[in-house]
Amino acid sequence: MKVLFLGCGSSVGSPVIGREIDSFDSKNFRTRSSVLITENNKNILIDTGADFRYQALKFKVKKIDFVLYTHSHADHTHGIDDLRIFSYIKKDKINCFANNHTIRDIKKNFSYIFNPVNMSGRPRLKMTEVRDSFVEQGVSIIPLEIKHKDWDILGYRINNFAYITDCSSIPDNTIQKLKGLDLLILDSLRFSPHESHLSVDQAIEIVDILKPKQTILTHLSSDLDYYELLEYLPNNIKPGFDGLILDI
Ligand SMILES: [Zn+2]
Ligand SMILES: [Zn+2]
Repeated sequence: MKVLFLGCGSSVGSPVIGREIDSFDSKNFRTRSSVLITENNKNILIDTGADFRYQALKFKVKKIDFVLYTHSHADHTHGIDDLRIFSYIKKDKINCFANNHTIRDIKKNFSYIFNPVNMSGRPRLKMTEVRDSFVEQGVSIIPLEIKHKDWDILGYRINNFAYITDCSSIPDNTIQKLKGLDLLILDSLRFSPHESHLSVDQAIEIVDILKPKQTILTHLSSDLDYYELLEYLPNNIKPGFDGLILDI
């Protein structure tokens, strides 16, 4: 399995528009959080943030076989229209998986996509509600219910890899589904606490409980400098960066 970090930034990306920057290291240039997983020759996209088109061009993404949505916040969905090209390439609808709440929001926020009168100029998508583990195109997916402040949203586990972004806490029954991981990608917004996201220290505490072989932090705010964070973290945890590729 290959995991490509398309983006590992927070909702506004990094750098933040309008803030003065003297110099900017490429590891601190972060687009909105998303990963592309390649398993069994299938390209599985998690979320379509506002930077999805840029990410697909930059990392030469040629096909998307299906999409897993974590939740409906703008930084995870507003690139949905750029699935249009991928549904043309596929010459078929692209299956998109999400929980009930996320599907409702996506159908409301992007109603033109699901309007049968509007036959052209839209991505062709099939939204499917995730309730339990499922197999799609030969790939087994385990949904992971997590809290994002008051919301119940989803992370996903595929084999010994799990992706958890926009997480304020992980319920006990989900903790049980996160044992024996080779790679965990985990939300870590900033050092100071945030009501909707894990802080750096909270992420470290969760890693201490789950003990995955390797953890990469994502959804990093522009306040987090890659090199300072790398220095701060224990050896088994690293900050993500756009373009990071992991083979597991
Ligand atoms: Zn987010
Ligand atoms: Zn969110």
